[in-house]
Amino acid sequence: MLKLYETRSREVVNITGSAGQLKMYCCGPTVYRDAHVGNLRTFLLSDLIVRAAKLSGLNVTLVQNITDVGHMAADLEDKILSQSKVEKIDPFEIVKKYEERFHEDLARLNILPADLYPRASESIELMISAIEKLIENGSAYIGTDRNVYFDAQSFPTYGAISGNRLGALKPGYRLETTEDGAKRFHADWALWKIAHDRTQMVWHTPWGLGFPGWHIECSAMSLAHLGQNVDVHVGGIDLRFPHHENERAQSNALTGHETVTHWIHGEHLLFEGRKMSKSSGNVVLIQDIIDRDLDPLSARLAFLENRYRSQMDLTWASLKAAHSTIKRWRGVVASGGASSDVESDSEIENALLNDLDTPKALQRLRAIEKDARIDPSRKRALFLFADQVLGLDLKRVPEEKVLTREQAALLQSRQEARLRKDFAESDRLRGLLEADGLAIHDGPDGQSWS
Ligand code: AMP
Ligand code: ZN
Repeated sequence: MLKLYETRSREVVNITGSAGQLKMYCCGPTVYRDAHVGNLRTFLLSDLIVRAAKLSGLNVTLVQNITDVGHMAADLEDKILSQSKVEKIDPFEIVKKYEERFHEDLARLNILPADLYPRASESIELMISAIEKLIENGSAYIGTDRNVYFDAQSFPTYGAISGNRLGALKPGYRLETTEDGAKRFHADWALWKIAHDRTQMVWHTPWGLGFPGWHIECSAMSLAHLGQNVDVHVGGIDLRFPHHENERAQSNALTGHETVTHWIHGEHLLFEGRKMSKSSGNVVLIQDIIDRDLDPLSARLAFLENRYRSQMDLTWASLKAAHSTIKRWRGVVASGGASSDVESDSEIENALLNDLDTPKALQRLRAIEKDARIDPSRKRALFLFADQVLGLDLKRVPEEKVLTREQAALLQSRQEARLRKDFAESDRLRGLLEADGLAIHDGPDGQSWS
């Protein structure tokens, strides 16, 4: 059985679904720019849960929304409309472009496609009827500025996921364009906003021309496509508050019960020790990894080397190391023949199902790789078993390449260095050869390479 750490109950819980079926929702991208490797770490978490749940025998339905309207930045500008000004193209062209690139990036990381990717801009009717229902049942109201607000105080268990209870929230933390006094309470958030002078991406509603708030889209789409109960809801740790608190309040106010059984959050990714941000110039995309001649799946392996619940630091060095490991493992798999048989391994299976302990599963693979008592075809079958969840495409047959003249010369110099016992030089040359993609082995008969 799959176990995961659940944020609201703050404990590791069994993920059972119901009647063999697991209904999952993962907050999707805001498509105004390329997803960076941090975003992708979170989307990979949802993929790992899907694959591990399948391994545990569940059928999974995954819905992931595409936020193509309504997400405001800290400066209160709509992220998509600002980007449309920068690129001088229509906002609907912007979202189309980045939505396509999002799917490409998922494929490059071997993330299995979701069953459905509903777009916010095509779910406006769903949001309007959800908001109407919330007004009707007293959970929402029309503010004096004509925006529609959720009445946070009507939801007594607000804060259960993040621990941010209403009473302790300070006014002013919300990023809302509101006139003073338009809301009843400072923590109320907008479900629908009046357009004022905005002319793009606006819709007619009973409350006037306007556009939706960000949080309502996830409630409307998850309830419409997964029903009144969602087993697992996934997102990055920053979404715990306010996004998931608000979503929980809205969904529960609509269904009258606890709608999401398990809230699962992935920790953030740093790059070379720093938070990724445009201003510090260290935003890394999958394309940047490919441009350095590294397999994009090296990012996947580098993520798997860390558990999803710990913050991790991705570096170019770790990506390079992951790149050579994948190549080496594809070699191990290729040397084991061509059969598609998998052989399950309880250590790997237990590690993966135990709150996605991917570092432990990888450690076991390394032990299998080194174990001379395991014959090559069995190694292949064990690796292929693990790869069902790891998703490193280990079955891919490594490319055959001929040695370049420079590589041959380096190998020759290294052999000579070893003969004269100049191990410092031999290590230096090994470094150069490995950086060039060769694997070097020193055995009783001298050096060999692949
Ligand atoms: P966005 O496109 O900004 O709405 O973000 C999409 C997803 O990426 C959300 O689940 C965020 O929580 C997540 N996310 C954003 N930054 C990072 C990061 N540095 N590391 C991991 N996940 C992140
Ligand atoms: Zn969401």
